[in-house]
Amino acid sequence: MKIWAAMLECNVMAPDFPTSPVYRGRFAPSPTGPLHLGSLVAALGSWLHARARGGEWRVRIEDVDRTREVPGAADAQLEALRRFGLHWDGEVVRQSDRDGLYQAALEELLGRGLAFECHCSRSDLEPAGGIHRACVASAPRDIPAIRLRVPDDTVVTFDDAVHGHLMQRLDAEVGDVVLRRADGCWAYQLAVVVDDAAQGITDIVRGADLLDSTARQIFLQRALGVPTPRHTHLPLILDDEGRKLSKSLAALPLDAADPLPALSVAWAALGQETGLVGGCGNVDGWLARATTAFDESRLPRGAQPSPHRTT
Ligand code: GLU
Repeated sequence: MKIWAAMLECNVMAPDFPTSPVYRGRFAPSPTGPLHLGSLVAALGSWLHARARGGEWRVRIEDVDRTREVPGAADAQLEALRRFGLHWDGEVVRQSDRDGLYQAALEELLGRGLAFECHCSRSDLEPAGGIHRACVASAPRDIPAIRLRVPDDTVVTFDDAVHGHLMQRLDAEVGDVVLRRADGCWAYQLAVVVDDAAQGITDIVRGADLLDSTARQIFLQRALGVPTPRHTHLPLILDDEGRKLSKSLAALPLDAADPLPALSVAWAALGQETGLVGGCGNVDGWLARATTAFDESRLPRGAQPSPHRTT
């Protein structure tokens, strides 16, 4: 595949490719604010999932969306992970360094007629509920978006370790997927798929808010001819009114100076038995115990977002 050749040329994946690891997980925060409890649950859950299986755990800073980036947030997130004892393998990857990879993937899709330029604005697509099936642009844009064509009747099914067998009707529920935005930024969907492939990620363990993106990512993986990792979507921490606790919603940052209370709350949110990790006064000891005690079968489903469960 051409995309693999481009990855090798960029030398981005030299340490990872072509060996296929047994287990390589990742935590991929967007630098939109400090780590909060919701992101700690995702970080701890993916760290434990990897470490309990003797796997690797990578960290990737997802900073393609410059409009949402908070200066200094990425470094603060990394420092918080260190303080919480969640040490990673290899170098931290930053998406802002990887334009060449995304460009190669985009060119491959355009060259094969699987992607196309689109001048439609948000308001052009409003009558169709924001779902793009055909270009209806009222005026040309300076920079067109690039979309991945989703043919009619595209159904993607996949298995999630927590949520079971899921399906999404991609054409009707999502429409043609944006790969590069009209402001020139790479879309999250393209960057995440290219990076997971380039880094040889075997297991995606992340918050259930991203279940809704999984089918389109699998569709894009198939278009690029790259492997689909295994998926485990962790429960979301909701605020008092039942809303997702989001980094941009000024959720309280964690106290990295006193990590054990927050780790214990995150452990309970992962459905794990609290008695098994009590009585340990330091972070590394706590994490060692937690790694031994971690039981994937206890991961709760939490509130069920889309897509639909079929079994
Ligand atoms: N960067 C995304 C976020 O912070 C996570 C992406 C992923 O895990 O696939 O919500």
